[in-house]
Amino acid sequence: MLCDKALCTGCGVCATICPVSCITMQADEFGFLYPSVVEDSCVSCGKCDYVCPVLHSPAVYSPTTAYAAMNRSESDRLQATSGGVFELLARWVLEKGGVVFGAAYEEDFSVSHICIDDAEDLFLLKGAKYVQSKTGSSFLEAEEALQHGRYVLYSGTSCQIAGLKKALGKEYDRLICVDLICHGVPSPAVWQHYIDYRSGKDNAGIRPQTIYLRCKDTGWQNYSVMFDYGAQQFVQPSRQDAYMQGFIHNLYLRESCFQCRFKGIDRCSDFSLGDYWGIESQHPEMDDHKGTSLVLLHTEKARKIWSGIQTECKFLKVDPSDAVQGNPMAVDSTSETPGKKTFVSNWNSEDFETLVFSIVPLPQTRHLSLIQRIKGTLIKLLKKSSS
Ligand SMILES: Cc1cc2nc3c(=O)[nH]c(=O)nc-3n(C[C@H](O)[C@H](O)[C@H](O)COP(=O)(O)OP(=O)(O)OC[C@H]3O[C@@H](n4cnc5c(N)ncnc54)[C@H](O)[C@@H]3O)c2cc1C
Ligand code: SF4
Ligand code: SF4
Ligand code: SF4
Repeated sequence: MLCDKALCTGCGVCATICPVSCITMQADEFGFLYPSVVEDSCVSCGKCDYVCPVLHSPAVYSPTTAYAAMNRSESDRLQATSGGVFELLARWVLEKGGVVFGAAYEEDFSVSHICIDDAEDLFLLKGAKYVQSKTGSSFLEAEEALQHGRYVLYSGTSCQIAGLKKALGKEYDRLICVDLICHGVPSPAVWQHYIDYRSGKDNAGIRPQTIYLRCKDTGWQNYSVMFDYGAQQFVQPSRQDAYMQGFIHNLYLRESCFQCRFKGIDRCSDFSLGDYWGIESQHPEMDDHKGTSLVLLHTEKARKIWSGIQTECKFLKVDPSDAVQGNPMAVDSTSETPGKKTFVSNWNSEDFETLVFSIVPLPQTRHLSLIQRIKGTLIKLLKKSSS
């Protein structure tokens, strides 16, 4: 028995565990993976039911302690999404000969979980990729590394960590689980569609070399989206970027994200990381506009590791419920947007930006920036004609 499709997170543990391999993960029209069972081959062993993290969630740990933290290396922090704490944890593990699992872009900018054992490759995992990552065979690879006695850091959304825990089926001293505070994961198919759309508008259809969805050149709170085509770059504030706005306004999230079973202050991971939204009013001394992490420590293992790396951070202990005050996604699921149906029916046929901004509120600043751009062009034209 698999869980209800609306709750399925696509973790794939059921497919991994099936002893007769009669479950495969198949993509729907949005590119989200769901299990598909060949009923005739099923031997009714019940293993897919037992391992499903939605049907039988792994235990959560408490008490949880919380910190606001900033990696002391400014360059590391500027390349990271929040305060750059993930990098410190990853380096701690790599220095001990361990391996680190996390989400990385493939060549076509689809996102998959990969394993690294060299700090030189950390850049592949750094930075949030706002699209669902495929876990593939990473749970099995993590198990193998643990069985060989290596330290393993596995980072991902909290449903992915719950899936890993169920796949492993037992505790390992050398496993460090890091989950993200998670708004929800956008559709892989919409993401690919947007890259083609953007490239068509900006670069004659030639895709970018790099994409940064949380570019901090304009600040951490006021981040930008950058498509880097090599010879030229397209940069715009996130509030004007149709993909980020459609994501934040829930137009193409996975169905399970609207009834997420893996939120809360106490979790099944060792660490939870997020953006410390609201830090500027709670503790202004911990905000320099370059990124502050919200760090939750759930286990004794996490507290020991934290005491080893905390000197590499500027940090402040905070009350866990204060820490999530400005970040409701830490504890609550987001809700459906009324215009979602319009998006679903038209995203393949209509102009992407026009469609998104016909559904979600068009920020005032978008009008202003358009007017500024038109003004700039007019001034250039006037100067040209008078010279
Ligand atoms: C889809 C998504 C939604 C999020 N929603 C929120 C939110 O609502 N509120 C909030 O405070 N924080 C949210 N975050 C977390 C936040 O954006 C940062 O990832 C987190 O704070 C870690 O930042 P960092 O500076 O420590 O390190 P970074 O260097 O930014 O760390 C990147 C880490 O994120 C992992 N990662 C990146 N993309 C993905 C992905 N698609 N799937 C799984 N893991 C991924 C990498 O493996 C790596 O471990 C979200 C992240 C993602 C990926
Ligand atoms: S009950 Fe057993 S055999 Fe049938 S699909 Fe589930 S895991 Fe596979
Ligand atoms: S949540 Fe995971 S284990 Fe459960 S049905 Fe979906 S893919 Fe299978
Ligand atoms: S919101 Fe919940 S179900 Fe959706 S990706 Fe995040 S942790 Fe998974």
